[in-house]
Amino acid sequence: MRPTGRLHLGHYVGVLKGWLELQEREEVLFFVADWHALSTSYEDGLDLRELSVELVKDWIGAGVDPERSTLFVQSEVKEHAELYLLLNMITPLGWLERNPTYKDLLEQMGKKEIHTAGFLTYPVLQTADIVLYDADAVPIGEDQRPHLEIAREIVRRFHHLYDRREKPIFKEPQEILSQTPRLLGLDGRKMSKSYGNAIYLTDSPDEVWRKLRGAKTDPQRVRRTDPGNPEVCLIYDYHKVFSDPEVVQKVEEGCRTASIGCVECKRWCQEGIERVLEPIRTRRAELKEEAVREIVAEGSRRAQGMAKRKMEEVNRAVFGAER
Ligand code: SF4
Repeated sequence: MRPTGRLHLGHYVGVLKGWLELQEREEVLFFVADWHALSTSYEDGLDLRELSVELVKDWIGAGVDPERSTLFVQSEVKEHAELYLLLNMITPLGWLERNPTYKDLLEQMGKKEIHTAGFLTYPVLQTADIVLYDADAVPIGEDQRPHLEIAREIVRRFHHLYDRREKPIFKEPQEILSQTPRLLGLDGRKMSKSYGNAIYLTDSPDEVWRKLRGAKTDPQRVRRTDPGNPEVCLIYDYHKVFSDPEVVQKVEEGCRTASIGCVECKRWCQEGIERVLEPIRTRRAELKEEAVREIVAEGSRRAQGMAKRKMEEVNRAVFGAER
């Protein structure tokens, strides 16, 4: 995950919940992709060290467990850059230029100048990130599928060019596709910092309420006595994610029959959201800065041990026996 700012509920629902399930059953490495952040934000003057620590605090607050999983920072493990360089040597430009996610992002970024080598080749860096650790699979969203396909193609090409052994050096990574539909922001668009429509994991209960109060509801429900249609209301979508089934049903019926008001409905929604946010805030507040830095340092050391071993194999395949 890139350290570009505070995490919001969209991240929690779409990404972190999946991570928590994954860490229950697998050995997982989670890393702060600070080099990737530069691919789109190299001009933004981000304090990446500070943002990286804050990001890890959000993860641990949300329940990522450093005792079970390895948490590290990409730029602390220079082997990512070494493998990225070698893989760049063999990756045809056409694969990267044809990547549909690349084209979409170029459009989405609007005025931002990202016609750079770093941005074009970031699927190659992603490939290095994955295969360096013999990852069997990577949790991704739909938009990342083309990147994983590129990663598998690069792996095959590397093996074709350099690796003649029975047991291949790299694994072809599989995807763990997020099953959760995207949580929309308070204005009905994608939840995003840049749209100012997000509820953050660190928002206070008052902030959450202020944001919910101002959120759009069914535009046809002008007066309290007008029956509404929950299917067109964002708050109902939130209920489906954060509230108990009985509350969801109560909202469904109450909205259609105008037996509940939108303020009351939003209060119930806030209660559901608070059940998620309250423990996150508490865990996060208990985290000492120093302890987080130590977790990351320890994770980075562990990751680097694995990465170094893999690079020995890679360098033998590319350059021949020991130099
Ligand atoms: S009652 Fe709830 S679901 Fe219905 S329009 Fe109001 S906020 Fe939306």
